[in-house]
Amino acid sequence: MVISSKDRARRDALVSAIEDARTAYYQHDEPTISDAEYDMLFKELVDLEVAHPELVTADSPTQSVGGEASETFGEFTHPTKMWSLDNVFDDAELDAWLARVGNHNFLCELKIDGLAINAVYRNGVLETLATRGSGAVGENVMSNIEYMTCVPQKLTAIKGQAFPELLEVRGEVYFSLADFDQINLEVTATGRTAFANPRNAAAGTLRQRMDNRVVAVAEAKSASSREKKQEELDRAAKALGRLGLIVHGIGAHDGLDITAQSHAYDLLKKWGLPTSDRVKVVDSAKAVHDYIEYFGLHRHELEHDIDGVVIKVDDLAEQDELGFTARAPRWAIAFKYPPTVVRTKLVDIGVQVGRTGRVTPRAQVEPVLVAGSTVTFATLHNGFEVSRKGVRIGDMIFLRKAGDVIPEILGPVVESRDGSEREFVMPTNCPECGSVLAPEKEDDKDLRCPNARTCPAQLRGRLEHLGSRAVLDIEGLGEKAARALLEDNVIEDEGDLFSLTSEDLSKSDFFVKGAKRELGKNAEVLLEQLELAKSKPLWRVISALSIRHVGPPTAQAIARAFPNLTDLQTASQDEIASVEGIGQVIAASIIEWFAEPWHRNIVTKWQRAGVRMQDEAVDSGPQTLSGITVVVTGTLDDFSREGAAEAITSRGGKSASSVSKNTDFVVVGPGAGSKAAKAEELGRPILDEAGFKVLLEDGPEAALKHLGLA
Ligand SMILES: [Zn+2]
Repeated sequence: MVISSKDRARRDALVSAIEDARTAYYQHDEPTISDAEYDMLFKELVDLEVAHPELVTADSPTQSVGGEASETFGEFTHPTKMWSLDNVFDDAELDAWLARVGNHNFLCELKIDGLAINAVYRNGVLETLATRGSGAVGENVMSNIEYMTCVPQKLTAIKGQAFPELLEVRGEVYFSLADFDQINLEVTATGRTAFANPRNAAAGTLRQRMDNRVVAVAEAKSASSREKKQEELDRAAKALGRLGLIVHGIGAHDGLDITAQSHAYDLLKKWGLPTSDRVKVVDSAKAVHDYIEYFGLHRHELEHDIDGVVIKVDDLAEQDELGFTARAPRWAIAFKYPPTVVRTKLVDIGVQVGRTGRVTPRAQVEPVLVAGSTVTFATLHNGFEVSRKGVRIGDMIFLRKAGDVIPEILGPVVESRDGSEREFVMPTNCPECGSVLAPEKEDDKDLRCPNARTCPAQLRGRLEHLGSRAVLDIEGLGEKAARALLEDNVIEDEGDLFSLTSEDLSKSDFFVKGAKRELGKNAEVLLEQLELAKSKPLWRVISALSIRHVGPPTAQAIARAFPNLTDLQTASQDEIASVEGIGQVIAASIIEWFAEPWHRNIVTKWQRAGVRMQDEAVDSGPQTLSGITVVVTGTLDDFSREGAAEAITSRGGKSASSVSKNTDFVVVGPGAGSKAAKAEELGRPILDEAGFKVLLEDGPEAALKHLGLA
């Protein structure tokens, strides 16, 4: 859309009117306009920005974390200019740049979605911290430094080397995705618009004058005004404390003897400045492409958002030779990835009933292209989550989709509401069977349909689960087959499954073909597969029962301790709880399950139909992982999540779901999130899939050797 100069002028007028009002409120505690007038100006600015997202600048009053202040800071002229980089958006444009610069060693690094800053150190002591601003002149945000933990105020001395008298360090302040989510929740809780991206959140956080906020609290003219300003001060301080920093360059550097960009990074690191472990120096155009491709695939596994990769000629003399254009260095380029956050409309919120009766709201959004695929649905977890995120049906929202992760709603654009939006109300009755929904325990956030036995949604869910690859692996028993079996009254519940005959199946249109109603191929496959399933290992049968908290890994532990289902059925809660990795909660859930007559009836029917309910004595193979706890996160090529857990437990190891200091190994595949970061934080050994295979085959020592740690 074309932005008219009229729109631009109006934007500028709104920004200045809003900033004047804020200054009056903050610095003089004397509002010049009413709250309603202020809100109208603010809403108009938001509407303008929604219509023309290109108009949104990081310093827009809509992009402020504290909610109110975004006052001006003193100007700071950078000792040397902070250049911006030219961007390329695809391989062809990148190749054109690579051809222009010729052969070099290239330093590749991630382009963090944050705010560029310049930290000026004199003899190792931080003198000024400034935003990039125009590149020549930024804002001096040094007065906020005491609230920030990410920027060292003193550099660590290197033995035998004096600090340069003047050193400019360039970097990016940013929020981790976890902190970004937290900030957005806090911002929307105060009735404000969520930040569209971590960069705006970082800018909104850094660009608030904490000194003015402190004065505003002290000079507040009423107790309630003081309280409100104190709250805002606290919120702003907390947000500043959460900012992280990654440094990625130097400007002026008196008396430093360095020859390469990567050399500068080594020095910065030794001085105690946070550099990225993901920086890589490569020597070919192909390796540059590989780096870009790798992080294009794995960007959603990082603890922070990136919007691309920066490539720099590593050698400083070669950089000098290439020089600068009027606006950017010729020796560096930013490769931009497609965005992962978009704005769209929340059309409706429906609810889904799961296998265990859990009722989850699901957002339907106006179809929107993000991260390479069209998104129409996003998850909302539970009713509590809907109100926590503050979204209403009809809202404009920010939506994030990264890789294979389920799309997620960040928050609403509150100011673009026109009054037609409505609150989502969690239904009181099950949409499928009409039962009254209730939390299982008083403080549960999830609502459940209590009708486990005949609720169609739950029955369907259990059948699908039972047929899934991780459980009994019955080809032909998917969502559609499950629906047909139930809706055409072929079976009453899963108890009837293994005694199904071709005659039974011929009652359902889904399983017959033609006018003669001959049995279809799908029916044959299903019957064949059901027969095969009857002699599968006991743990698969136990998982097929849909006992709460008993997934495949737990079922394996149980089947090892109770290789006969009758033994499990007659065991006491304490006996079950004493099994390694089980505990009282799971044991109680098992006891509860078997106490239900219709559950026992399923077992009896299966037994009668020939389902094997015990394991033959098996040689469990070498116990290479005895006493070893392993956490697997992300996706692996050759193992499903359950398969990986099985591989660990069958070798005597423990497959855990969260990383702690007691974790021996963390296996990280694509899609890994916070667990990988946690492993790094705790210094636990991290294995890739190849390393995991070494661990399984040859045990922990070989795996450490694989990592070069032993
Ligand atoms: Zn129901």
